Amino acid sequence: MTQARAGQRVVVLGAGMVGVACALSLRQRGLAVTVIDPLGPGAATSHGNAGVLARSSLMPFNHPGLWAQLPNLLRGRNPGFRYHPLWTLGQWRWGLSFLAHAREPVFRETTTALDALIRHSGTVHRRWMDAAGVAQRRRDDGWLFLYRSEAAFAAGAFGRETLARFGVATRVLNAPALHDLEPHLKPVFPRTLWVQNASAVDSPGEVVRGYAAWLQALGGVLQVDQAQRLTRAERSWTVHTSGGAALPADHVVLALGPWSRDFLREQLGLRLPMGFERGQHRHFHPSPGASLNRPVYDTAGGYVLAPMAQGLRLTTGVELNAQQAPPNREQLEAAERAAREAMPLGERTQDPDWLGSRPTLPDCRPMIGACPGHAGLWLALGHQHIGFSTGPGTGELLAQLMLGEPTTIDPQPFSPGRFLRA
Ligand SMILES: Cc1cc2nc3c(=O)[nH]c(=O)nc-3n(C[C@H](O)[C@H](O)[C@H](O)COP(=O)(O)OP(=O)(O)OC[C@H]3O[C@@H](n4cnc5c(N)ncnc54)[C@H](O)[C@@H]3O)c2cc1C
Repeated sequence: MTQARAGQRVVVLGAGMVGVACALSLRQRGLAVTVIDPLGPGAATSHGNAGVLARSSLMPFNHPGLWAQLPNLLRGRNPGFRYHPLWTLGQWRWGLSFLAHAREPVFRETTTALDALIRHSGTVHRRWMDAAGVAQRRRDDGWLFLYRSEAAFAAGAFGRETLARFGVATRVLNAPALHDLEPHLKPVFPRTLWVQNASAVDSPGEVVRGYAAWLQALGGVLQVDQAQRLTRAERSWTVHTSGGAALPADHVVLALGPWSRDFLREQLGLRLPMGFERGQHRHFHPSPGASLNRPVYDTAGGYVLAPMAQGLRLTTGVELNAQQAPPNREQLEAAERAAREAMPLGERTQDPDWLGSRPTLPDCRPMIGACPGHAGLWLALGHQHIGFSTGPGTGELLAQLMLGEPTTIDPQPFSPGRFLRA
């Protein structure tokens, strides 16, 4: 492994939450950092998400209970999950590996690792939001898992036990207690789990842009350009861009979110087992007199509704499909119908519907560390449902690994060697 040191040049590919966070952590350690992205900072997946920062996100999608849920998921009975059969069959290697990781020992390792990453990220996020002047975008009122029946609540016992095991603060609410917290939700939820000590932001993209502006104030460089080709000579890399630049770098950090898979295959012949859990969002004006204080997850409706600067943001669950396939609006329409049963929603805003992909590795842990067999190339990718919340912890861990510092959290569960060989 080629270690980095202060003063060396780093080019970060991708200015989503993860890339900008890596750049900030490295710049704070004295490296000369350039970040490139054709869309500018926080304009892709890190813009469209639900903005939740919560320890409850330590639960991976492929927990051991997935096996019992599988028949219903495959029959399309869960509005939070859709799949394109042909595409999903074509991804059988990833799919089988994803399922093979839905085992108790892996689950324990993954939840422990994600809990550490989420907790560390929460601390760094707070510090950075203050320093970047975006703390006013965050609310610390928790978020709510809503249940439409006692039976559905009972079926969530495994998740609640897991959260309790990790000491995640929660409170079970009956309908009147939910009404006290969120008076404008309709009375269709007899049970609610309130995940306390969780936060949410009212514009994830603006938070990333705030961090990016702070990076520039610290001397980092942001370039609107696209990495097209990577070459290595002697001890350094060159990043060739579609804008015609050739950026020399002692180290390259690849933080391309869902674009990482194709880039690694095309540039280095590496096969990254990454699946795309696509999700959409749609914005609504609040209905007059009706507001929401915090994000809510309607477990039966399979959507999250979150108060945002743009209005109420409805985000859908998972659709397994090609990253570039045209949007399938059926899941979004179903989510809107379910959300209207739960909350008075006004008209749609002028914002277009949005589609993005959660980039997911088979064990639901991101890859953070040195790329096997490619000295000076570092990976920060595969953040599935939690990359907005875990970007800062990723940046810190990657910078610590690059500079050979003691790490705040155990890096081993995130090692790229899990799935990539030299
Ligand atoms: C519907 C939905 C809801 C979500 N809700 C949450 C949530 O509540 N909380 C949470 O923590 N996470 C959430 N997530 C997940 C989170 O949004 C992602 O994990 C996270 O944004 C990934 O960040 P990233 O920086 O890795 O990727 P991105 O934000 O996608 O950044 C990658 C960047 O790479 C750039 N790029 C691509 N190709 C090139 C190239 N060749 N050269 C240079 N740049 C390039 C892209 O333009 C992009 O800006 C949600 C995701 C979805 C889809």
